Amino acid sequence: MATDRAYIAALAEKRLAEFIKTRPADAKQYSIKLTSGSTAAPIISVSENLEHYFKTYSKSVSAVVGFASMNLRMANAMYARHHTTDNPRRILFLDVNDLVPGLGELLGDLAPDLIRGFPSFMVRISEHMREADMHAVKYLVFAGELFTDARVTFFKTHYPNAIVRRMYIAGEMGPISALDCGHLPCNCYHPMAGVTLTIDNPNELGIGAVLVTKTIEDGVRVEDYRIGDTARWRTEPCACGAPLAFEIMGRDGFDYIKILGTLLRVEEVERVLAPFAHRLAEYRVEAAEVSTDVGSKGQLTLRVYSPGGMTSEAADALLNTFADTLYMTPTKTLRRLIVEGIFLPPRLEQEPVSFMGPGKAFKLRFVQ
Ligand SMILES: [Zn+2]
Repeated sequence: MATDRAYIAALAEKRLAEFIKTRPADAKQYSIKLTSGSTAAPIISVSENLEHYFKTYSKSVSAVVGFASMNLRMANAMYARHHTTDNPRRILFLDVNDLVPGLGELLGDLAPDLIRGFPSFMVRISEHMREADMHAVKYLVFAGELFTDARVTFFKTHYPNAIVRRMYIAGEMGPISALDCGHLPCNCYHPMAGVTLTIDNPNELGIGAVLVTKTIEDGVRVEDYRIGDTARWRTEPCACGAPLAFEIMGRDGFDYIKILGTLLRVEEVERVLAPFAHRLAEYRVEAAEVSTDVGSKGQLTLRVYSPGGMTSEAADALLNTFADTLYMTPTKTLRRLIVEGIFLPPRLEQEPVSFMGPGKAFKLRFVQ
């Protein structure tokens, strides 16, 4: 029988209560973490620190950690504090508010050999780094977001001497993929030993929901847990010889997209577009990262089908309302993010006919 999220949440709650009531002697071997809350209500979980997840730290003398996410920053900081002895000797934890003039000099002084974090945030950190400092980086460790070809090229170009490590991890279940073998294209992973993946109800392209079966902590068996991502199996063999590999396709049909440290949520889009409902028979918001002369920026495109079409005045009003009232962080609207130079102004594309076929009525899409 499939394990649902309520079961995982109840289990996490029980473990946390027990952990607080009967603090184990080796408590420092555990982390208390909060999931991002992007799939559903956040889950607070206690988990054993995973040596292999953090082991790249031991190869580093000075590291930069940039997740643009408080819970991951804290988890990494606590782990580094308790579990690293000599290495890395210096770690700089960065958040979005730290990307200020002068950061480049600080990063030059730190001379990091490892950078770990969300790819989008690492691009933004890189925009502050001198070329020589980027060339000195030996390891890039990524987690948490989809890769794009543009990003792969960006990191290869700017960090020519770095070994890249990626993993597919879920907050509530830990690692799902093995540490990458170095041969697979972006967003492709081998399942971790002991993890069984199923692609549920695949469409004509073989893409379906990812279901995970694995034994999590305390020997609890999680069966066919719906992680919230879609994927397909790779048919090409991998040079490393591992028999199975899957490609994460994102969250089409799901309720949010993470982009550049912000969250585009379907409920928020629906709220903002509700006043235009009489005019919009169909709509979809497409999120992309685009390269500009001043670094990468986010771009939202509102693809709409409005029977009879919209005048340019109506289209402008729609775009202005969208930018002014769409919240993409708890405190920042799209307009604010445009002013801060993180996003470009949104675009509108009118479709002449209905474009949402049966079963394809998802309202968000990440485009490369
Ligand atoms: Zn491989």
